[in-house]
Amino acid sequence: MSETKKAPARPVVLGNWKMNGLRADGLKLAGELAERAARLTGTLGVFPPATLLAGVASRLAGTGIVVGGQDAHFEEGGAFTGSISPAMLKDAGAGAVILGHSERRHGLGEDDALVQKKAAASLKAGLLVTLCIGETEAEYDAGRTIEVLERQVAGSLPARATAANLVVAYEPVWAIGTGRTPSTDKIGTVHARLRAMLEERLEDGADMALLYGGSVKPGNAAEIMALPNVDGVLIGGACLEAESFWRIYTAGGGA
Ligand code: PEP
Repeated sequence: MSETKKAPARPVVLGNWKMNGLRADGLKLAGELAERAARLTGTLGVFPPATLLAGVASRLAGTGIVVGGQDAHFEEGGAFTGSISPAMLKDAGAGAVILGHSERRHGLGEDDALVQKKAAASLKAGLLVTLCIGETEAEYDAGRTIEVLERQVAGSLPARATAANLVVAYEPVWAIGTGRTPSTDKIGTVHARLRAMLEERLEDGADMALLYGGSVKPGNAAEIMALPNVDGVLIGGACLEAESFWRIYTAGGGA
C-alpha cells in the first residue's frame, strides 16, 4: 500500500499473528478473512510472520485487508543478519508495519530511540506505521502510566508522523495475553490524555487513529471501541481465529 493521504477509516482493527502459523495455517486464516471481507467499511489489517507475508498478501490482494510486518530495520539493506528492511516488507506485499510492540521493547530491549529510527525509515518507505506504547504493571501500580506514555510518545514518534501515515496503539504491557484489561474508565482517561498529547505535537493529532490493545475479545470489544478517542483495537490471541477476529471488527462497527 502506498502512503495514504487520509487517516485510516474507522474502526481500525489490526491483528498481530506474532510467531504463529505455518504456511497452511496462515493461508487458511487469510482465506477465511477474505471470504468475510466482501465490503469493508473500516480498516482491517493482519500482521503475519515474515515467512507468510508474501503468501498472505497475495491471498488477500483486492480484498482491502491491509497486510503488514511485525517489525522492520531502520536501514535499507546491508549486513544486518536476520533483519528485514521496510523496502523488503513492501516488496513482499506489505503496506504496514507494527513497531515498538512490548514483546520487542521489553523482550528484546528496544528503546524509544531505536523505535523512532525504525518508524522514520518505515514512513520513508511508505508503510503505514502502528506505533505501540504502554506501561508495565509496576509502572501502572506506581501511578506512572501517563508519565511513561509521555516519554514514549516524545521518544518514539517520528518527525514525519501524520494521521495518514501512523496509528498509535496503547497497550498496557500487563494486559497483553493475560485476560486482564484496565476498566473502560481507565482506558477512556488514558486515551483522552493521549489525544491531548498528539494534538499538542501534531497539526492533525485530532485525526490520528488511537487504538487500544491488550486482551480484547469479542465479548469486550464493543464497549472498548465505543469509548471516545478509541478508534479501534490491536489484537493478539483473538485474531488467530477468523470468526473471533471478524466479530471484534463488526463489534466496532466495521463490516
Ligand atoms: C498484542 O500482543 O498486541 C495483544 C494485544 O495481545 P492480546 O490481544 O493477546 O492481549
